[in-house]
Amino acid sequence: MVEEKGTISINTENIFPIIKKFLYSDHEIFLRELVSNAVDATQKIKRLAAIGEYKEELGDLKIKISINEKLKTLTVSDSGIGMTADEIKKYINQIAFSGATEFLEKYKDKGEENQIIGNFGLGFYSSFMVADKVDLITKSYQEGSESVQWTCDGSTEFEITSTVKKQRGTDVVLYINEDSEEFLDKARIQGILDKYCKFLPVEVEFDEKVVNNPNPIWTKSPSELKDEDYLAFYKELYPFSEDPLFWIHLNVDYPFNLTGVLYFPKIKNDLELNRNKIQLYSRQVFITDEVKDVVPEFLMLLHGIIDSPDIPLNVSRSYLQSDSNVKKINAHITKKVADKLNELFKKDRKAYEEKFDNIGLFVKYGMISEDKFYDKAQKFALFKNTEGEYTTFDEYREKVTPNQTDKDGNLVYLYTTDAGKQDAFIQSAKKRSYDVLLLDGPIDSHFINMLEQKLEKTSLKRVDADTVDKLVEKDEKIDSVLSDKEKDTVKAVYEKVLNSKNMTVSVESLSPDEMPVTITLPEFMRRMKDMAATGGGGFAMMGQMPDQYSVAVNANHALTKKILDESGEDAKEQLAKQAVDLAKLSQNMLTGSDLTSFIQRSLNIASQ
Ligand code: ADP
Repeated sequence: MVEEKGTISINTENIFPIIKKFLYSDHEIFLRELVSNAVDATQKIKRLAAIGEYKEELGDLKIKISINEKLKTLTVSDSGIGMTADEIKKYINQIAFSGATEFLEKYKDKGEENQIIGNFGLGFYSSFMVADKVDLITKSYQEGSESVQWTCDGSTEFEITSTVKKQRGTDVVLYINEDSEEFLDKARIQGILDKYCKFLPVEVEFDEKVVNNPNPIWTKSPSELKDEDYLAFYKELYPFSEDPLFWIHLNVDYPFNLTGVLYFPKIKNDLELNRNKIQLYSRQVFITDEVKDVVPEFLMLLHGIIDSPDIPLNVSRSYLQSDSNVKKINAHITKKVADKLNELFKKDRKAYEEKFDNIGLFVKYGMISEDKFYDKAQKFALFKNTEGEYTTFDEYREKVTPNQTDKDGNLVYLYTTDAGKQDAFIQSAKKRSYDVLLLDGPIDSHFINMLEQKLEKTSLKRVDADTVDKLVEKDEKIDSVLSDKEKDTVKAVYEKVLNSKNMTVSVESLSPDEMPVTITLPEFMRRMKDMAATGGGGFAMMGQMPDQYSVAVNANHALTKKILDESGEDAKEQLAKQAVDLAKLSQNMLTGSDLTSFIQRSLNIASQ
């Protein structure tokens, strides 16, 4: 018997085709919406019971999801507060519907469909994305209330009839439409529940199993938790990942609400693989794992969960970016991370140093991308040198000032990007008691640029950027044992042997124990090439330019003298070739036929 028929009063003739069109690519969220409503209704009844407004038995409060393949229905049942007929009229016909209408009014002409999808909760009405007809069968908790059934077939017309339902609560029955039969598939539903409902605060049962963990650790107080709990939760989130290094438990209630646990994973070089692992929740309902706007860019490599009811999820992306709560949350996370790192550093420096190879990436990335973080991080950022020693920025400055200040009073920090390949240069630097920093990480070229901008009167040079005398230019001059004429002779021999426009030869007075020939690529040139390689816009053309090397011939080396003493041109050239090849060899520049002829020549010399 039909008790009431009515028309949902809106202007749009038929709202549902539009809803379908709008949310086309994200149909699955209907289930998140229905289960969230069921959770709300369940929590409301619990609260009423707790304050004594509801005195009956609460009973089993599980939310149950079931599929009837024959009838092609999907049902979400709860034992929450239920609704009276009046409440249905108010909440479903008017309020929920006006929400949907408002949404359409706002976005229908904007062409931002893709941005809205997934961020806008259309609530109850999203069920019409997948169903031809929806029945809502409900019985309110209020004493003496009648059970009612609301039915709507996706037009603007609805029907309210009385029905028989013994238990308090609501069943929402979706008659799945032809295009959406995937939602009658158990595995598909299980997949959606795993994605959105994993940590809902009320137990959700599907296929006779509870599918969620209603008390995830971020809802607990840090004092209740042990390291094992955090590690176990990490495994629950990322079953195939190595244990994290450490974590931060976020727990803020003023001026905004934010809870969560952020983990620092072990990351070596594969940055991309580790991005987008943070999940954003709102009151334990999964919203998205695109947290770009909420989490500072440099912390996108962290893993874990953040949960905030204050993040406006029912609006578009562009709104999210300018939302002031989102900005505050962003700043708060940055501060928390800095505080945590500082605490770890202060508490146990040795343990912190052991982790620094992994943490360093975050610290450096943070320093590059956020000035505020740079200021804080100066206290706990570490340099590592080729000896494996760690120093803070201040300690390092103090350490190298006496020996690595040049004649103009500028400090020179030396670094290597590959201790194996640049070993010959590192050894030369060590002979002078210079310190060499190990900066071989994936973002170190940017880190170096940043350091030069931030540190006063300090420049950074790679150990092979110049001959060791010129890396840190001092006043002391080593006299040349050669006359100008002899220098010209030597230069001419080398120019002939090198026979390349990209090699500029100079004869220099170096210490006799330095190599007879040193080939270097000037710091600025190499850095521009590095920038081009890592996609530094304006430097792209540098990538195609040939390298311009400097070839320094050591006037004071015994071999140079020997070249001058040889009488025949061939013999002079043979020695010069050998010296050049040795220099190339020490820098991994000797390959192919050049390497083969070097080996042949060496054998000839050795057998003479
Ligand atoms: P929202 O959940 O954002 O308020 P909905 O359209 O999903 O919007 O729901 C509108 C209203 O209908 C809810 O606020 C609630 O009062 C009521 N409602 C929906 N689902 C249920 C349910 N399972 N049990 C009780 N009330 C419900």
